[in-house]
Amino acid sequence: MKEKLYTIPVNDAFDKDYECPICAMYEELENRYVEYAMGPSYMEDDIRDETDRLGFCEKHMKAVFEQKNALGLALVLQTHLRRTRKEIEKLSGDLGKPAALMKKAVPPSAAAYVNKLHDTCFVCKRIAEMFDRYLETVFYLYKKDPAFKQKFAGSKGFCTDHYGVLIVKAGEQLKGAEYEAFIKETTALYLKNLERVEEDLAWFVNKFDYRYANEPWKNAKDAVPRAMLKANGIPYEPLS
Ligand SMILES: [Zn+2]
Ligand SMILES: [Zn+2]
Repeated sequence: MKEKLYTIPVNDAFDKDYECPICAMYEELENRYVEYAMGPSYMEDDIRDETDRLGFCEKHMKAVFEQKNALGLALVLQTHLRRTRKEIEKLSGDLGKPAALMKKAVPPSAAAYVNKLHDTCFVCKRIAEMFDRYLETVFYLYKKDPAFKQKFAGSKGFCTDHYGVLIVKAGEQLKGAEYEAFIKETTALYLKNLERVEEDLAWFVNKFDYRYANEPWKNAKDAVPRAMLKANGIPYEPLS
C-alpha cells in the first residue's frame, strides 16, 4: 500500500470500550476538523477559499459555532456569504424557462448552484479524505497484525452504517478466502453485539416495571444512548 498508514489512531479507536470503533475513528476526525475550521487556519487564504466555496453542512455549522470563536465564525461567514451572493448574482441572468402548458419549468441556473452548495461542507470533505485512509488501515492491520485481528474480534461490533461500510470496503481490500472469512466474522460480530444491546434495552424496559424496581440495572443504564449509536451513529459518553 503506497498510501500512508494510520495505525495509531485506528488502534486507539479499537482500544476504546465503544459500541462502534469505526464511529470512534470518525468522531476523532470530526472533532479535529471542527477545531481546525475555527483554529488559526481560517485566516490562511487557501483554507478560507475552501470554506467560502464549500460552506458547512447544518451539523458542522452548529459544531463550528460550539467552538465559541464568535469573531472567527463572523469572518468566515462574512466571506462565505459574499462568495455565495457573487455566484448567484453571476447566474441570475438566466431566469429559467417558464413552464409551457403540461410541461415542467426549467429551473434557473442558480438552482443547481444552490443544490450543490447544500451538499458541500468543509468539515465533511476533510473527514471523508482521511476516513478512507483510516479504513484502508483497518484492513491493512487486519491482514498483517495478529494483535489487531484479535482486537477486532473482541470489539463490541459496529453501528449499522459502518457494518455496511466494512462489508463493501472488504470487496476492494481483501480477496478469496480472506474476504469470505472477513465477511463472515464481521457479520457475526455485528449481529451478536446488536443482540446484546437489544437485551440491554429489554432490561432497561423491565426496570420501568414495579416488579423489577429493586433489581440491579445490570448493563442497562446507558442502553438508550448505546442503542442510538448502533442505529444512527450518534456519539455517546461511555459510563466510567
Ligand atoms: Zn459506526
Ligand atoms: Zn459537514
